[in-house]
Amino acid sequence: MFKVSKKIGAGMLLATMLVSTALTGCSGSSESSSGKSDGKIELSFMFRGQPQEQEAFKEVIKKYEEANPDVDVTMVITAPDQYDTKLKAAIAGRKIPDVFFYNPAQVKAYVNSGVLLDITEQVEGSEDIKLEDIWETGVDKYRYDGKTLGEGAIYGLPKDLGPFALGYNKTMFEEAGIPLPDKDKPYTWDEFISVSQELTKDTNGDGKMDQYGTGFNVNWALQPFVWSNGADWLDETKTKVTIDDPKFTEALQWFADHQNKYKITPSIGEAQTLDTYQRWLKGQLAFFPVGPWDMGAFKEQLKFEYDLIPWPAGSTGKSAAWIGSLGIGVGSTTKHPEEAAELAMYLSADQEGQQALVDAQVQLPNSMEVAKSWSEDTSIKPENKQEFLDIINDYGRGFPAEHTYTGEWYEEFFKNIQPVLDGKQTAEEYVKEAQPKMQKLLDAAIEQEKQAAK
Ligand code: CA
Repeated sequence: MFKVSKKIGAGMLLATMLVSTALTGCSGSSESSSGKSDGKIELSFMFRGQPQEQEAFKEVIKKYEEANPDVDVTMVITAPDQYDTKLKAAIAGRKIPDVFFYNPAQVKAYVNSGVLLDITEQVEGSEDIKLEDIWETGVDKYRYDGKTLGEGAIYGLPKDLGPFALGYNKTMFEEAGIPLPDKDKPYTWDEFISVSQELTKDTNGDGKMDQYGTGFNVNWALQPFVWSNGADWLDETKTKVTIDDPKFTEALQWFADHQNKYKITPSIGEAQTLDTYQRWLKGQLAFFPVGPWDMGAFKEQLKFEYDLIPWPAGSTGKSAAWIGSLGIGVGSTTKHPEEAAELAMYLSADQEGQQALVDAQVQLPNSMEVAKSWSEDTSIKPENKQEFLDIINDYGRGFPAEHTYTGEWYEEFFKNIQPVLDGKQTAEEYVKEAQPKMQKLLDAAIEQEKQAAK
């Protein structure tokens, strides 16, 4: 059983968190949560994060308030898995926060329904931030000209970019006397299985397994394998669901075979007693995905050395990985558009704000310049942080649903996948069943977008 319980950071939660319902008109004369008291400008800031991220953002807000004594920020904080429901409710109740995190897959729908304020002028006119210094791929996720994503007005700035790399337990390799993975040359799939099998063992001879190759969560780790095998969820026009492509099926089957055929993961029974995130923390797994948001927690909790490598390469011979992101947007109903945009910029790109977040090790720097020296700083573990930057610059991609109007079609893929992971259904049988259902939902999303554009 692959449980959906890997601790996830604010930068990654796309697949399960897409707002898929149509938004009703939310602009207009709605009540804003901002107002004035004690002569101070009050801004509401709604965000989410793991405990470590929450603490980091609280600190940054404190700094912001010290630097801007006329502004009072009220924070609305939720755990990552409840965030979208709460934000949706706030929007539906016409209480759009002044500043808030949102998923890039929502840009089109939020712009069309008037939830987001266009902050292009504030961003381009700012003296505190340099737009050209922020990752272009990050800013482009929040541009929309009414037709094409990535172009036109700016409706938010990246909270961060979250490249999802593959980590490995260096100590485990050294103890087993196995050569360390090459950071510049990805394993082939066969090599990955073979080294994982070598590391899956009962180390003390009591008949019970003590360590395993890996244990991936399908929601977050299938994408690199599908993509590196030359397949994808959608065709280039983003109008056809292509999971029945044999290259896709092959990747999904190989993924499920980790447990059922190659036995490089905890068994179904073992997975029920302890999830793989916990096993990674305990040093029981050789390989596990790592995002920048994990670094702070890993620094405190891991009792072994770890580092980053590219994901194993499928038939294309190239690694693939996803880049998550969250936007920081300004609510269209804010009474203080200038100050709200200022706050969004402070959190995303201001040097002081950024440094505090980077120091807390909950994200990589949004400034390309800062990121370079950060990646070279060997006092910050892991050593090969360059892999994160390579994913952003060279081989990372956004989630499949980022370019579609709603994400229901993509969520559908994961709904009934468990029998495949448990070896009770083949990948080939599964994609035949799932493709038409997903296509129907995608068609509906395309239709909805057409209607909204009218
Ligand atoms: Ca044992």
